[in-house]
Amino acid sequence: MRFVSYWQDTAPPFSGAREGPVEGHFDIVVIGGGFTGLAAARQLARGGARVAVLEADRVGCGASGRNGGHVNNGLAHSFLATKARFGTEKAVALYHAFDDAVDTVEGIVRDEKIDCAFRRGGKLKLASKPKHFDALARNFEALHKEADPDTALLGRTELADEIGSDGFYGAMLSRKAGMMHMGRFVNGLAEAAKKAGAVIFEDAAVTARSREAGRHKLTTARGSVLADNVLVATGAYTSGPFPELRRRIVPVGAFIIATRPLTDAEIAATVPRDRTYVNSNNFVNYFRLAPDRRLIFGGRARFSARVDQRSDSKSGAILRANLAGIFPHLADIGIDYCWGGLVDMTKDRFPRAGFMDGMHFAMGYSGHGTHMSVHMGTVMADIILGRDDRNPFRDMPWPALPLYSGTPWFMPAMGLWYRFLDLIR
Ligand SMILES: Cc1cc2nc3c(=O)[nH]c(=O)nc-3n(C[C@H](O)[C@H](O)[C@H](O)COP(=O)(O)OP(=O)(O)OC[C@H]3O[C@@H](n4cnc5c(N)ncnc54)[C@H](O)[C@@H]3O)c2cc1C
Repeated sequence: MRFVSYWQDTAPPFSGAREGPVEGHFDIVVIGGGFTGLAAARQLARGGARVAVLEADRVGCGASGRNGGHVNNGLAHSFLATKARFGTEKAVALYHAFDDAVDTVEGIVRDEKIDCAFRRGGKLKLASKPKHFDALARNFEALHKEADPDTALLGRTELADEIGSDGFYGAMLSRKAGMMHMGRFVNGLAEAAKKAGAVIFEDAAVTARSREAGRHKLTTARGSVLADNVLVATGAYTSGPFPELRRRIVPVGAFIIATRPLTDAEIAATVPRDRTYVNSNNFVNYFRLAPDRRLIFGGRARFSARVDQRSDSKSGAILRANLAGIFPHLADIGIDYCWGGLVDMTKDRFPRAGFMDGMHFAMGYSGHGTHMSVHMGTVMADIILGRDDRNPFRDMPWPALPLYSGTPWFMPAMGLWYRFLDLIR
């Protein structure tokens, strides 16, 4: 078994980073070379701005190169809960923002000809308990009528044609949802940003910032740059001189295993419709086939903010047991990859983007970020370029979390609480 991300291991590497010292004066400097930062850099450069990306490690080394590979439309919350909080009009607008985000990804893949196997196969939200199906059905009734007619409710009998598992009591199908190869997409996005004129520095962690004659000075171990504007796109991996963001964003570990490639017969007995799949537990599991037909199987596994080989392998063992629980016929299948990554959570699981502490920012996609990050990078670039403000999260306040400065000490307690909820609900 290899303890690296399957996406990173099977994508042609990005080799266009600027060598030599980190220096220069730019209209905008983007901090973070994941989907948010690279999509912003591409859009800014195409808009005529002089733009640089400062990435602490390699492009796509954060969540963008380590996720589950789902490009699912839909909110992180139930539509009914979103309506109860914001009212129908805003809930529908927020739901449609996630549709727009999938469209943004699809548009970039098409325009830049990124070979990343993007396809809209649809997503099944699977009910793990009978009462979860009742809740799914209530939510579907409102959602289908008010926001997304491209959805369907499947009972247990219809589900038999969809998935080779007895573990579910029904599902909601979202036909607009997609999937892609995340490593090929993120490296393709970096190539596209570079082609548009952005300068990308890797191994360039921002360790200090100051103001000089009205400009930002951003310092790295390899030199410093001046910027008229800054966009912080550092997500769950935020390090360096951004304490205000670290007091608001919670990094939560998420883990994934990838099996050996499945045979035709195994696919037919497991996921014959080749969609993305997510179950309804708090200790969620999600899965899909990779382009080379492995099952990419992820989940929360444990509440941990540590991502290293020891932690990943503990989580991998839990995921293997979860996989065997859902698909007993794959209980002994070979596991080729195991890895972990940090999810950029906010307290209410809605993303945030705007202007704070003299800098633009976009983050907090809370596990629904493979598309929203690309979209928000593009939207924030447009705002910086003086175009229309299409930020769907602009009015959402984002207070700092009490007694928190970036180390999520409360994670074990949260884990116990969610385990308890999975037992009783
Ligand atoms: C295991 C896992 C599974 C997931 N599955 C899904 C999924 O299936 N579907 C979905 O929609 N979402 C999923 N997500 C979430 C999604 O991947 C993220 O929301 C998205 O990739 C965030 O992109 P980003 O560019 O904002 O952040 P990142 O990709 O994390 O990039 C941030 C970058 O900032 C850099 N950085 C940090 N500090 C500094 C600094 N001081 N100086 C310079 N650079 C810095 C980091 O090195 C990093 O490369 C998953 C996440 C994980 C971890």
